[in-house]
Amino acid sequence: GGGGRGGGGWGGGGGGGGAPGGGGPTFTDVTDYLSTLEALRLSEARWRSLTQLSSDWYWEQDAQYRFVRLDGNAQQKTGVPDEVHYGLTRWELPDTFVDEGQWRDHRAVLEAHQVFHDFEMQRVTHDGQPIWVSISGEPIFDAEGTFTGYRGVARDITERKLAEAQIQRLAFYDELTGLPNRRLLMDRLERAVAASTREGCHGALLFLDLDNFKGINDTLGHEWGDRLLVQVGARVSACVRATDTVARLGGDEFVVVIEGLHAEEAEAAAEAEAVAQKVLAALNQPYQIEGCEMHSTPSIGIALFRDAQQPVQELLKRADLAMYQAKAQGRNMLCFFDPAMQAAASARSALEGDIRLGLARAEFLLHYQPVVDATGQLLGAEALVRWNHPQRGMVPPAEFIPLAEQTGLILPLGRQVLAMACHQLALWAADPARASWTLSVNVSAQEFRQSEFVQDVLAVLRDSGADARRLKLELTESLLLHDVEDSILKMQALRTLGVGFALDDFGTGYSSLSYLKRLPLDQLKIDQSFVRDVLTDPNDAAIACTIITLAHSLALDVVAEGVETEGQRAFLLRNGCQRFQGYLFGRPGPAALL
Ligand code: C2E
Ligand code: CA
Ligand code: CA
Repeated sequence: GGGGRGGGGWGGGGGGGGAPGGGGPTFTDVTDYLSTLEALRLSEARWRSLTQLSSDWYWEQDAQYRFVRLDGNAQQKTGVPDEVHYGLTRWELPDTFVDEGQWRDHRAVLEAHQVFHDFEMQRVTHDGQPIWVSISGEPIFDAEGTFTGYRGVARDITERKLAEAQIQRLAFYDELTGLPNRRLLMDRLERAVAASTREGCHGALLFLDLDNFKGINDTLGHEWGDRLLVQVGARVSACVRATDTVARLGGDEFVVVIEGLHAEEAEAAAEAEAVAQKVLAALNQPYQIEGCEMHSTPSIGIALFRDAQQPVQELLKRADLAMYQAKAQGRNMLCFFDPAMQAAASARSALEGDIRLGLARAEFLLHYQPVVDATGQLLGAEALVRWNHPQRGMVPPAEFIPLAEQTGLILPLGRQVLAMACHQLALWAADPARASWTLSVNVSAQEFRQSEFVQDVLAVLRDSGADARRLKLELTESLLLHDVEDSILKMQALRTLGVGFALDDFGTGYSSLSYLKRLPLDQLKIDQSFVRDVLTDPNDAAIACTIITLAHSLALDVVAEGVETEGQRAFLLRNGCQRFQGYLFGRPGPAALL
């Protein structure tokens, strides 16, 4: 016997077709025959006990690929009795999950009588558990070389498959919500864009961000935040078709890819909007978390796509940008991406890069505008930053301060401004005619709120050698009222060293007189908008006079800004204002012109 191509040995004890091949030995002696039979029986027993021990199982098929024999643990592993297999081909077995293409390829291998390795097949056990088996097989030929069937082994690979699936889940799915993560999203998006190009239809990308998530996380804790996110994911998924992708990017950001929208852009936009409205409505419903009712709203940005003209990263950026627009327009709404938005955003990011470069190349400088007393005598100046741009020339602060504030670049910029101002003070100190001048420097909210603000100012003063008593910092009301106690502490710390404080643009904010009294200020600056119409608008005249009176009652200096005419100056002087700043006395310019 034996396991060779003749097939006699293994086939011996099996089904009907397994008798020793026609070309087998002839027995002349009964004893011979019996001992051969006994050897066969022993070999068969050995084989069975081996296959019982092995986690693999053995199978055999006839020339029509129908099962004729199974040895080993198949029944135990698959939960399908061995008898069910007999007479059926592999593809006739119940509950196999193999697609048509894979069967076709597998059968082609069989028809060609080739050896195959690791054909993987998913099955379901009788109690409904999915299992995976891997099958290898080789053709059997008789002594004449005629094909008589297949035999091989099969193995349960469920554990490996589950481990692979777990790795897959970790790599491509968000752990908290079970939704696709960014990586899988990008992959799906690539496919969606390719499909839309191929089929000539539109797709849409929805970028969704919760409006109050940070608040919920901070006040109720991360656990509640997590539960909310899980519910949000489920609600969004329920609003779209199973073929659409809902992904979580991280935090409270979700993205939906909608496919198969209309070929006409306007129609597609309407369809995408309908889905987004549905999502918006679903997320506006109250949430139940541990019996408590919670509310949350999203802002949604929408970007349509059709031709694969831009990389998918760009599409995501567009939807993100539209989402920010929705936030800017008041939240809990949706907003479509439009090219003007894009243009503005690219201009902004170009400007941001330019500011960075300008900081590195020291392109920012200070102009000085005189501040004078009632007799026209110079008391000092206000430092106003300018950007000496290599292409654009002298750029006014209105064109870069707001962006610098939004991007945090105001911190390095403010540092440079303060250093230049203190350097100028030190130069003046060496000149008897200018030694008494004070210099006012504008400070943005972000700079002032830095916890190191006081130390930073001290360091600049020390490095420059400037006299702290000649430095005045100009702050705005909204900045001071953000955290009054912290403001007071910082101001007091700097004041003990002699640094003065002016309240800039006074009258334009929500003046809170009770706080004003507590702030250690030295000066109020009447905003130029009141000064401009002080002679023509009785309201503005009344406000200017009230500010002057208020300043006197709080024992503060008062400076009128934006004084352009002698008439304005005379009116303000008559009403008790003793300090002036404006084009009437001098425009901002280089220090040498003071
Ligand atoms: P601000 O602090 O209210 O500065 C006064 C602004 O009024 C300056 O504009 C000044 O050139 C302008 N001005 C002065 N006199 C007159 C006048 O008679 N008529 C008119 N129509 N305008 C006058 P500028 O230099 O364009 O600065 C604009 C704003 O930029 C400043 O308003 C200030 O808020 C901000 N800024 C300027 N420099 C800095 C800085 O170094 N740091 C920070 N954070 N902000 C700065
Ligand atoms: Ca100012
Ligand atoms: Ca001002």
